[in-house]
This record gives sequence, C-alpha cells and structure tokens, in this order.
Amino acid sequence: MAYEIIEKLKKEIEGYREKPEWAEVGQVTEVGDGIVKILGLRNAVSQEILKIDTAKGVRTALALNLEEESIGALVLDDFLAIEVGDTVKRTGEVLSIQVGEELIGRVIDPLGNPQDGLGEVFKKGTEPKRNPLEARAPSVLERESVNAPLHTGIKAIDAMIPIGRGQRELIIGDRQTGKTAIALDAILNQLNDKGRRTPVCIYVAIGQKESKIAKMVETIKKFDALKYTIIVSASASSPASLWYLAPYTGCAIGEYFRDRGQDALVVYDDLSKHAWAYRQISLLLRRPPGREAYPGDIFYLHSRLLERSAKLSKDKGGGSLTALPIVETQLGDVTAYIPTNIISITDGQIYLESDLFYQGQRPALNVGISVSRVGSAAQTKAMKKVAGKLRLALAQFRELQAFVQFATDVDEATKKKILHGQKINEVLKQNDLSPMPFEEEVCILYAVLNDYFGAVGIENVKKTEHDLTNYLKKLHDNDILKPIRDTGDFSESTEEKLKEALDHFLNSK
Ligand code: ATP
Ligand code: MG
Repeated sequence: MAYEIIEKLKKEIEGYREKPEWAEVGQVTEVGDGIVKILGLRNAVSQEILKIDTAKGVRTALALNLEEESIGALVLDDFLAIEVGDTVKRTGEVLSIQVGEELIGRVIDPLGNPQDGLGEVFKKGTEPKRNPLEARAPSVLERESVNAPLHTGIKAIDAMIPIGRGQRELIIGDRQTGKTAIALDAILNQLNDKGRRTPVCIYVAIGQKESKIAKMVETIKKFDALKYTIIVSASASSPASLWYLAPYTGCAIGEYFRDRGQDALVVYDDLSKHAWAYRQISLLLRRPPGREAYPGDIFYLHSRLLERSAKLSKDKGGGSLTALPIVETQLGDVTAYIPTNIISITDGQIYLESDLFYQGQRPALNVGISVSRVGSAAQTKAMKKVAGKLRLALAQFRELQAFVQFATDVDEATKKKILHGQKINEVLKQNDLSPMPFEEEVCILYAVLNDYFGAVGIENVKKTEHDLTNYLKKLHDNDILKPIRDTGDFSESTEEKLKEALDHFLNSK
C-alpha cells in the first residue's frame, strides 16, 4: 500500500515541470459605440476572441481590424463597462458556435443564447461540437453540380425560376413586396414535399422588429414546421455587432447539417441590414469608406458568406446548403452598390416589384428579369414538361398585351390569346402561407396551359383552381398525384388519366 503511494508520488513529481507562461497583454486605448481600439497585441489574428479585464468583470471582443500597432475590435457584450487602460488578453480562439440536433425547433441569438424561454439549448455536461463562424467554403473538387430541386410551393417560382439544393438564389425587391413571404413559404412547403429529404431550415432575422420575429415563429409553429426549423434572431434593438454576426451563425449551423450529409436551407433576411451594420462598425473603426460609404471589403464579406452554400460531392457525404439571401432595394434600384454586388455573387434572383404587388399580382414576381441560373438542371421531369410551355405562353401574352394597348379593333383570335394569358396570370397568383405540393402545381399548370380553363370566366379562375385541386386530391390521389410525387415524372399514362379527370371535372361543373 505504502509502496503504491510512493510510486504515485514519484510519478507526480516526475511529471511536474515548472512552465512559465508568457501572455501577450494589450491595453484599451479608445472605447467607442460597441468598438474598442487596443494597443499591444501584435500577434492577434483576424476574428480572434479577446478578453478584456474591466472593473466590472471580463468582457469579450472580436478582433476585426488589424493595423500595424493597434487592433480595432468589436465588443460582443456590454461595452459600457470598458474603460481606457483596461488590459486585454488573446485567447487564440476564433469565434464559434455550439452546433447539434438540439438546435432544431429553437430560437437563438447569434451567440447561441436561447431567446425562446425554453432553457439551455444543450444539456449541461455535454460537449457539443463547435463550428467556427467563419469557415472555408468547399473547394471545386468537393462540390458537385446542383441536381435536386428545392420546391418552394409557389407555382410561378417552381415552374419558371426553380431553385436547386445547394443553390444561392437572391430574393430582391422594395420594402413590403412579399420578400419574407416567399422565404417563409419555402420553409413551410418542406412539409408538403414528401418525396424528398426534408432540409433543416434556418431563418436568420437581421435587424427586424421583435414583434415581427415573434409572429414569424408563431406562424412556423402553427404550420408544424418548427420541428425542422431553427431561428437565429438579431432583433432591431440588438447592437450592430449581433446584426453583423447573425448570418455567419446561421451559415455555421447550416454547415453542420450539410457536412453530415443532410440538406439545409438558410434564409438571410436581410443582407441590406447586414451591410448597414458592417458599415456602421467600419466607420466607427475609422476604416476608409468607399462607395456609398461602405468599406472596401463588403463584396468580399458577402461572397465569403454565400460561397459556403454548396452541393457536396458523394465523397463528401452529398449534403447541401441552399441559401436564400434577401436584399431590399430603394425604388426598385438594382444598380445600387449592395444589390449589384449580391446579384453578381448569387446564382440568380427573384425580383419583386411594388407595382405588381399593388395591382394584386401576388407574388409580385417580375418574370422578365427574374432568373435561376442553375436550378433548371434540378427541376423534375414533370415540372419541366409544363414549365417550358408556361414561359413561352407568358412571353407571348406580354408581347400581345403591349401591342394591343394601342390598337382599336382587335380580332377574335388575338382576343382569345390575351384572355388565355390573363387566365395563366390568374393561376400564378397565389396567397402567402399557402404553398402547394409540387404534384398539384404540375396538374394545375397543365390544365390552364392546355386551355382546360377555356370556358371558365376570368373571375372564376381562382375558385375553379381551388375546386380542381380538391377534386384531384380526393378522387385521383392514387392514380395521378402519387405517381408524379413518387417518380417526379409525368408519364404519358398519367397524362392520359389527368386529361380524363380534367374533362370529367369540367363537364360535371
Ligand atoms: P419588409 O420590407 O417589411 O421586410 P417584405 O418585402 O418582406 O416586407 P412581407 O412581409 O413578406 O414583405 O409581405 C408584406 C405583406 O404582404 C404581408 O402582410 C404579407 O402577408 C403580404 N403578402 C406577401 N405575399 C403575399 C401574397 N402572395 N399574397 C397575398 N399577400 C401577400
Ligand atoms: Mg421582410
């Protein structure tokens, strides 16, 4: 017994080494609105976490601006406690967030703190994985091209501006044009898309009113979509530092699921506010302002963020991260600095117009300039069959309409064509919060494009569409809807059955 103890002691003594520790210490030289300037930490790296010893305890800051002698840092908690002369230490760590399945169904702030009053996200004692907020985007070899659709449940978008898993599609428009509604519908529609893996959806709210975010969470909950959704909230009242960090937090969470071979969808609502926050921070740090007073690296900031969305190759697990960034324009001006930047980074844009919105064409999609550069490769065969015809029909309709405006007597054939176009437009109108399963979208679009709505008055199109959907759901789920849903294809035999069903439905009316 005594021998064992002596042996143990010997071992302990052997293991003991006096290690003098050197720590680099800096000093706060300036405190501003949420930022500090620090002298002395010459080896600090960008995005490193710094600890500031204040009279009221330790405060955390993030190194942002590295100059030769000094550092500009962003304070992540209460900056009022910091005073000039306080000492600052490096931690050697970059900012990261705890990630895991536990986040699903929760509302957190950009630093990972719960905001929904449901207690800690991760159980005490567990050591969840941490993902850095800034991460390297997957390289070319780690990616493959987008090949699976992400249905939004909005007819006009799924047919004409399809989004693929791993794509970055910008939603852009003036204020109050239904931008958020589109992203929200895309999240809710994942419940409808039964034939595909449900992506984990992450909604990042940047600088929005607390009441608006609460309403959003309520809606997601009501539709039972919270079971696959995470909300990252940096509300209007939170400091610019949190607005700035929010998209990175959302992205880091998305990457966790992407790297596990799952699909994830992240909505950044919106990046204009993110850019404002970054501009504010940069001006306080006295970085030289560039165009529209934004700092020179704002383009790099957003491209770094959006490049992290990807469809990974099979070797890398085949996961995907789809991004739907939202940008607000002023009076439809897409040539402003931030809109042009983000348009050039993304794989396409959904452009919303207030004129259309007020005319009642909702979603207020400008079909002419909205595009999806990669999504059509991922479109299902069934949707492709109807979509080609739809674009053409709409383009012809617009041309005719513009032409006929000035004509006095219009012949019957032209009148008929215009009426047909108006009916298609009517079918493309869709209320928010009513995403449609894609197999129903295919059938409805097929019906209107093939003139099955010919005898229906324009004012009755919406009602007929509604009745037809119900009719198909009730009587033809097995022989028409299910085969489209399961195979993604619209075979000739299904087409025959749909024709029969449509004839029957319209005759019985
Ligand atoms: P903001 O600029 O304030 O963020 P936004 O562009 O995100 O606005 P939303 O909040 O999505 O716009 O929509 C504005 C209003 O229009 C909401 O009340 C919403 O319910 C309504 N709306 C949006 N899309 C549609 C639609 N397709 N049909 C009917 N109403 C809609
Ligand atoms: Mg909005």
